[in-house]
Amino acid sequence: MGYDKELAIAKDAVMQAAKLCEAVRRDMVPEAMEKSDKSPVTVADYGSQAIICRALSAAFPNDPVVGEEDAADLRTPEMTDRLKQVAGFVQSVLGTAEPDQIVQWIDHGNGSPAKRFWTLDPIDGTKGFLRGDQYAIALALIEDGDLKVGLLGCPALSFGDGEPGLLFTAVRGEGTYMQPISGGEAKQVHVVQPGDADRLRFVESVEASHGNQSEQEAVAKAVGITQSSVRMDSQAKYGAVAAGEAALYLRLPSPKYPDYREKIWDHAAGAIVVEEAGGRVTDMHGKPLDFYTAAKMVDNRGVVVSNGAIHDDVMSAL
Ligand code: AMP
Ligand code: MG
Repeated sequence: MGYDKELAIAKDAVMQAAKLCEAVRRDMVPEAMEKSDKSPVTVADYGSQAIICRALSAAFPNDPVVGEEDAADLRTPEMTDRLKQVAGFVQSVLGTAEPDQIVQWIDHGNGSPAKRFWTLDPIDGTKGFLRGDQYAIALALIEDGDLKVGLLGCPALSFGDGEPGLLFTAVRGEGTYMQPISGGEAKQVHVVQPGDADRLRFVESVEASHGNQSEQEAVAKAVGITQSSVRMDSQAKYGAVAAGEAALYLRLPSPKYPDYREKIWDHAAGAIVVEEAGGRVTDMHGKPLDFYTAAKMVDNRGVVVSNGAIHDDVMSAL
């Protein structure tokens, strides 16, 4: 049917990338390298993007990939040892990979939005990854102006007393499924219903500068959420809403960075995962997020993710 091949290829690739990321956290103390925008990147970000872009370019050579990373820094002579480190981790997952292939695979992620394209965050929440907290591998397919497939690999996420490591997958019109990221049975998930007061929690970023925590708390209160927020890094927050573990994820613009614009790879996979689980995703003014025009969502401000039932109330509160 429709997107079976896309889902199968993407799922294998995200599971392999998750293995690499967990190997990096297990085998070394991952160090942050600084990008030109001062945000951190690690050998695992590069390795994850290499693995996923390799799989996509082999299976769907005509699909551009709009990825967060590029290999320009890794190609410089000062980074030869780093590149070898990345190659070592990629080899440990794929069996084989040469440094010059790695940089080519990573740069396959330098594409632009098109009629059909993928968007990839090889490690969303790099700060969480470095702290030993939550992070996500986020991959989505966009076609004809709509999200069609989304995958959210969350190697450190668990609910209740479950084993850490969850993979969310969604195909437009077919629902959202959650399974152990190491493999196993996929079960359909749904957002929380308003009657289930225990789980009317809200989630927000750990990093205070990625939102507006005092306003987020006020809005949550205004819609009847009395518990304090659960803070987690990355699009794992979308997973929590999709699985009914939280009713709301608020990301209001930080007063410190009024000109910040959200990137498509930070939201595309999470958005379809929540929508197909029965929830709603808009910006803070109720506008749909624009995943189709550019890597930055220039016409959207803030992000509101809910179980759907409380969405209009959140808009009124805002
Ligand atoms: P989170 O873990 O939810 O806080 O999201 C991590 C993402 O926040 C990173 O991938 C960045 O792209 C993004 N980010 C960086 N600065 C800001 C900012 N000022 N406002 C919102 N998001 C940001
Ligand atoms: Mg990110």
